[in-house]
Amino acid sequence: MLNRFVLILCLAAAGLQSPATRPAEEAFAAGVAEADLRRYVRELVAFGPRMGGTPSNDKSAAYLSAYFKKQGLEVAVHEDPPALAHWETSWRVALADGSVIESAWPFGFSASANVAGKLLLVPELSKATPSEEWKGRVIYTPGDVGRAYAAIVKSGHLPAAILSSAPNDPTRYIDWSRLSSLRSAADNPIPAFSVSYVDGRALASAAQAERTVKVSLDATIREGKGKTVIATLEGQDPSGYYLISAHGDSDSGGPGADDNASGVATVMEIARVYAALVRSGKIERPKYSLRFAVWGAEYRSARTFIEREGENLKNLKGVLNFDETGTGAERDAIYFESNDVPWNETLLRTLDSVGADYAGREGFWTEYTTNPSQGGTDSYAFLPKQYKGTGQTTLQIPSTTIYTAAWDKLAEIDQVPGWESKGTPDPKKLKIDYSLYYHSSGDTPENTTEREPQNMVRAVKATGIALIRLNR
Ligand SMILES: [Zn+2]
Repeated sequence: MLNRFVLILCLAAAGLQSPATRPAEEAFAAGVAEADLRRYVRELVAFGPRMGGTPSNDKSAAYLSAYFKKQGLEVAVHEDPPALAHWETSWRVALADGSVIESAWPFGFSASANVAGKLLLVPELSKATPSEEWKGRVIYTPGDVGRAYAAIVKSGHLPAAILSSAPNDPTRYIDWSRLSSLRSAADNPIPAFSVSYVDGRALASAAQAERTVKVSLDATIREGKGKTVIATLEGQDPSGYYLISAHGDSDSGGPGADDNASGVATVMEIARVYAALVRSGKIERPKYSLRFAVWGAEYRSARTFIEREGENLKNLKGVLNFDETGTGAERDAIYFESNDVPWNETLLRTLDSVGADYAGREGFWTEYTTNPSQGGTDSYAFLPKQYKGTGQTTLQIPSTTIYTAAWDKLAEIDQVPGWESKGTPDPKKLKIDYSLYYHSSGDTPENTTEREPQNMVRAVKATGIALIRLNR
């Protein structure tokens, strides 16, 4: 009982520390619109995979530019140096009797094709030795293609096409295909496709009957420049700025609703609510500018940004990046990453205290936690290698990623000493939630953001409130 009493006193004291910003925080939270977030994701996904340097990247960049301008922000579009890009206009994989393998999705950098061949089942492609028999056949293999592709090309026994299915695990990837990519090149000679686990089983039995499969693909592979949109809400002291960012491409080349239209939608909504409240005088103009960045290509565009900034990078006060704020397979938590980076102390303690102050309230999160650096997203372009960063800059720039799911399976890790995971049985351990649709053709709005739109709402509110506390 005594402990509980002390806890209540502590909470009361904590609550008393933030009356100055409470009205602004409440106004920000009240301004967040779930329907808008859902609509942004649907509109972004409708453009296509939005991979850097492709027509769907151009379309989404134009859409975002118009959107940010409408919010009264200064907008600039930056281009990456040219890099090989691919996009697929149409494709069809069907048995000769006309039955279509609906789940088929082309590997990135598969060249255009219009071929047919008798099906051949190769159970473990990576362990098999390419043989004369493979020539002109359509190979079906359960599992990954990986390095086998290069070995097959080298052998000269070129199949007409390769079809690979999701892992032989009936609990996952049943209705969709796990997406993959060939090496970045315009001359990959064999078209490759992913199919769902269920379609893989159908192909295995069709292979026994040596049935013929027809494959067609209309793809474009050429150099393109990824387009990054940067919108600025000017601060009282515009010499400094915070970066609020998300990768605008789908990364896997699929629909990418959760990864990462959800992150882009989160950036869009923070910009809209913040700009409107500053305009109406309901919240103060932030001390430093807020720069909203939607990267044309994950990592690459953030690195281009750092190079472009040069000396001005020292004015960057912090990076708040979003990657997968649209779903969660097992938990109902919001995560604030990179509490192991010493110069993230203020940023992460602020996010953690926002987590504590609003946990359990209607319209907010139930579970929240900080977690150590995991790598693999754009906040790491600003961190050194020691913290899974790319080491692009030696400046100590506070950088976090805010998310509700990461990768395709649950990660159970130790919490960083000095930090606790709230709302879990053991505060020294933490579980990082994942997406059932990670890098698959099933990463659609219907499966993610339409089902759990509350995740994006929470990411917007947590970040907006943290910015109000940090940037004044
Ligand atoms: Zn991502």
